[in-house]
Amino acid sequence: MKKIIVANWKSNKNQEEVEFWLDTFKTYTDLNNEVVIAPPYPFLSLVADKVKDQKDISLAVQNLSAYPAGSYTGEICVRNIEGFEIKYAILGHSERRRYLGENHQDVANKVDLCLAGKITPIICIDVDYLEDQASAISSENLEKCIVAYEPPNAISTNGGENPSVKEVSKAVIKIKEIFGEIKVIYGGNVTPDNVSDYLSTTDGVLVGGASLDAKIFEQLAYKE
Ligand code: PEP
Repeated sequence: MKKIIVANWKSNKNQEEVEFWLDTFKTYTDLNNEVVIAPPYPFLSLVADKVKDQKDISLAVQNLSAYPAGSYTGEICVRNIEGFEIKYAILGHSERRRYLGENHQDVANKVDLCLAGKITPIICIDVDYLEDQASAISSENLEKCIVAYEPPNAISTNGGENPSVKEVSKAVIKIKEIFGEIKVIYGGNVTPDNVSDYLSTTDGVLVGGASLDAKIFEQLAYKE
């Protein structure tokens, strides 16, 4: 089965830099992996244009509103992104939990709206709050999610303390015990040097820093 390799650009890049990335990133047909690009919202259509004929490259958003369409100034909801063929939404990233006060219930509400809009949630979770997060999500929705196991200390901007492959394997087992037979991916300081190790025990990787440079991301995206 194809592994999922997600590029999370976070709040990085201006339009010129996005255009440069898209011009630099080589696309191939029949990839070994499914490549997912999660740009900042203003660049969704630029990226969508680039990947529209690439069956193994998909688009994700980095967040979604916990509210439906309506009077929620500044929010971006599922309805706003209809037409971009968004396949995934990254939800509950530790940066959103830490800086924007997002809690387990907010993430659960986003999961409901996301699934209703036929977008697959990729929920970022650390094992410390795995049970609490899962219990906020309705039981029929748990097995429709992908979980990204992301220990916050492993994230490159927090110090990049990579867990061992054994630790990741243990976390994957624990996540599946609670969520069911879902896909579990790993995120935290993934680089071209360590990606194969993490892919050996997961269904994919979520990549922040190393996705910002198209050439480095290519080395991850097209890894066997
Ligand atoms: C992240 O923040 O989700 C992440 C995986 O970042 P990095 O790859 O830079 O550690």
